[in-house]
Amino acid sequence: MLGGTFDPIHVGHLRPALDVCHALALDEVRFVPCHLTPHRPQPERSSALRADMVTLAVDAVAAFVLDDREMRRDVPSYTVDTLGALRGEHPDAELYFLLGVDSLNGLDRWHRWSELLGLAHLALMRRPGYALNAFAAALLAEHGLTAEAARGRPCGGIVSVDTTALDVSSTALRALLAAGHDPKYLVPDSVREFLLNRTEYQE
Ligand code: ATP
Repeated sequence: MLGGTFDPIHVGHLRPALDVCHALALDEVRFVPCHLTPHRPQPERSSALRADMVTLAVDAVAAFVLDDREMRRDVPSYTVDTLGALRGEHPDAELYFLLGVDSLNGLDRWHRWSELLGLAHLALMRRPGYALNAFAAALLAEHGLTAEAARGRPCGGIVSVDTTALDVSSTALRALLAAGHDPKYLVPDSVREFLLNRTEYQE
């Protein structure tokens, strides 16, 4: 699964996720919009709006799906709970939590973060502008696995995937949209059409 605020979803989410899907031969990648965000200020855009854009974006890839489970409960969206639910549904599956280097760097501030590796592997995506910090480097040194070594195991490893480096962020996109600029090539065309017809990101 790839969790995120997706405010809005962009090619920096999608292409690296597709790279992971191919590299690790995943059956599917679930995009899970965060509803009540415990680790950051609540996004100004509603969960429903952010999920609508995820729905448009995932339509292009058969293995990509929206998973709206966090939006269905008005409780803080903790990844440990979401992964726990997925693990309950798929007791023996090889599960991966996809995240960028920036997220791994801050993982020690997440609720019950040390339980995550007992529920899933981590699939680490490169992100321009972010290098591993000391915490992330130590975690990787302890739990790093090759894709081959992780295969067949349900959880417990961190697999670094050689993903496409795309210097795109939702923060930069929000600034671009607020300035009235066209997000072409930074988001899928379907999401661009959606954004051009909405006012939520305008100043
Ligand atoms: P914001 O700028 O609002 O903080 P964001 O662009 O970082 O948003 P999120 O939805 O917060 O996007 O990110 C969800 C996940 O996707 C995180 O694990 C993050 O590391 C990863 N991610 C986001 N953008 C990229 C990117 N360009 N390359 C690799 N990973 C990314």
